[in-house]
Amino acid sequence: MLSRTLSKEHDLPISLILTKNDHAEILLELQVHGLSNSGNGMQRREGNTIFADSRMAGTFSSGILRLNGSIDIIQPDGRTYSLSESYGLHRETGLLGLKGLQNLGNTCFMNSAIQCLVHTPKVVDYFLGDYRKEINSTNPLGMQGELALAFGELLRKLWSPGTNPINPRAFKSKLVKFAPQFSGYNQHDSQEFLAFLLDGLHEDLNRVKQKPYIEMKDAADRPDEEVAEEYWQSHLVRNDSIIVDVCQGQFRSKLVCPMCKKLSITFDPFMYLTLPLPSTTMRSMTVTVISTDGVALPSPLAVSVPNCGSLKDLIQALSVACFLRDDETLLVAEVYKNCIFQYLDDPSDSIDLIRDNDQIVAYRLPKGSEPSVLVEFVHTKAERDNYFGRSEFGFPLVARLTGLPCGYDVRQAFLKLINPFLKPTEEDASYDYDDAEHSVSAHEDSEMEDTQSPCDTESDAEMVDGPNEFEFSLKNSSKIMMSEPVVVPTTERSLRIYAFWPEKMLEKYDACFLGSLPEIFKPQLFTRRPSESVSLYKCLEAFLKEEPLGPEDMWYCPSCKRHQQANKKLDLWRLPEILVVYLKRFSYSQFLKNKLETFVDFPIKDLDLTGYIANRSSSSPCRYVLYAISNHYGGLGGGHYTAFVHHGHNLWYEFDDERVFPINAEGIKTSAAYVLFYRRVPAA
Ligand SMILES: [Zn+2]
Repeated sequence: MLSRTLSKEHDLPISLILTKNDHAEILLELQVHGLSNSGNGMQRREGNTIFADSRMAGTFSSGILRLNGSIDIIQPDGRTYSLSESYGLHRETGLLGLKGLQNLGNTCFMNSAIQCLVHTPKVVDYFLGDYRKEINSTNPLGMQGELALAFGELLRKLWSPGTNPINPRAFKSKLVKFAPQFSGYNQHDSQEFLAFLLDGLHEDLNRVKQKPYIEMKDAADRPDEEVAEEYWQSHLVRNDSIIVDVCQGQFRSKLVCPMCKKLSITFDPFMYLTLPLPSTTMRSMTVTVISTDGVALPSPLAVSVPNCGSLKDLIQALSVACFLRDDETLLVAEVYKNCIFQYLDDPSDSIDLIRDNDQIVAYRLPKGSEPSVLVEFVHTKAERDNYFGRSEFGFPLVARLTGLPCGYDVRQAFLKLINPFLKPTEEDASYDYDDAEHSVSAHEDSEMEDTQSPCDTESDAEMVDGPNEFEFSLKNSSKIMMSEPVVVPTTERSLRIYAFWPEKMLEKYDACFLGSLPEIFKPQLFTRRPSESVSLYKCLEAFLKEEPLGPEDMWYCPSCKRHQQANKKLDLWRLPEILVVYLKRFSYSQFLKNKLETFVDFPIKDLDLTGYIANRSSSSPCRYVLYAISNHYGGLGGGHYTAFVHHGHNLWYEFDDERVFPINAEGIKTSAAYVLFYRRVPAA
């Protein structure tokens, strides 16, 4: 009588009893605990007992049970039977490994990556087995085995029967102990976490206790196959773990010196591919073009600029759209809180610097060769609630300061700029009418207006209603009248003048044209951004494309004996069993961080890398199927992570912290996909 009980007491995830009876049959008792959520038509089943009959006996007697969710039975000859396939038991057996993880305060980045990893076939088998014997507690690069043990415990809990979500606190505290960057309650990057975790697990489980020192021989003119194998073997004598077994592959990396053409080839291991998202499409940008000729009203123009374009491309597109004349130029500026926040005038600047919610204007100015100063008119009006009694409104108007020596007429310049906003007077309105009465009443109105004109009753009116005319000052808080000539510091590029609009002027002009500016791009609710779609293969090609190293990443050329900006070409040489692919959605530059929402069209059932392998003599299969996705929703520094996990047949589940529910397989391809997990399809 052979009996093996994997029960809760032994802290193993499944109650499995194999009993060999007198007739040499194997009875399998599988206790599976159902999902309490029956909204999807699944029934809650506790302690469900499944007996495998004699037809299965042969299979079990020589096979290995693999508890990876779909309960596969692997025969010594490598053939695999799935219990669920044979007996249609999928509903029952599939319920294991569907536990959620509680959110400890923005820990969805961690939960999402963990769910992907704990559904990685060989990794599950490994940690459900006797992995403790491989703990390397003396590896100086490891964490005394503590991280691997904490992960192993967590994985076993996630694969234990029951439906209650697991609290990952014990794991998180170990993580934070060794990687304090993940402490606190801030949102982190699931990719950074995964990179740390894979690396940490590898070192904690490294079977190599003493890493020998190895000096790599120069590739010289030896065949790539030989050199690559040499590199791989020397990697293995220092690094040997479940992570290396399953997740590591090898690049061929070629560097060519631009000066002496010296070629250097290395074959470095990799644990994941970090693929850039090449921009293949255009970015729609709305910019408000503001004339300074005193005639045309501001007009928002939507133009398309290459995603990777520069400010020069934006100006070019705007110039065409607004019919810019040869004697005019466009000055692009960012408006923030009714003032000019900054001028964007380096044509080589990337348009990445402009975010979708920025408000950008382009002033149409006469071309001037002489260095000139710009006057920015910021509009203000009376505001009772404001401390200074005045508040800014609208967007600034800009004029080029000319004729400095003889003084600059601020009022004249301003009146010209706001001329397009002038409301039609009654006289203008009645122009079309022949009716005498209309003309009379219009005339009376204008007479009344005249009597209130500042020439006659300025002081009286100011006493009662405030000024009737525009007031100009250098500061919004003070009332420095600009009757004196303005002294412009010639070192300044622009001079800000506050123009105060009295109530009367707000009525005379249609100031609503100075209202709020449109944003660069406003995504419509419920509609997708004009779909930018790029295939995963295109991302891979962009990654493998030859390009010069960055200036901060120079290569020491042994032949020139100095650092050179070498050309680098990467190729895939050896592929791992589990291929983890990061989509580089987050870009970090000196000035800002950005997230790309590009929709990546990635294969689900057949990722074929045959054409991308530089190793022509390789016989290992290059086809992969997708089994998990870490998704990121929302913007940078926040947002939310979930995981999609394949769970046998065509069933996919979403793991959203503690919530786990089935999803439609057709819906797993979204622009939220961030980290993709592929497993190799064995050769037929
Ligand atoms: Zn060189």
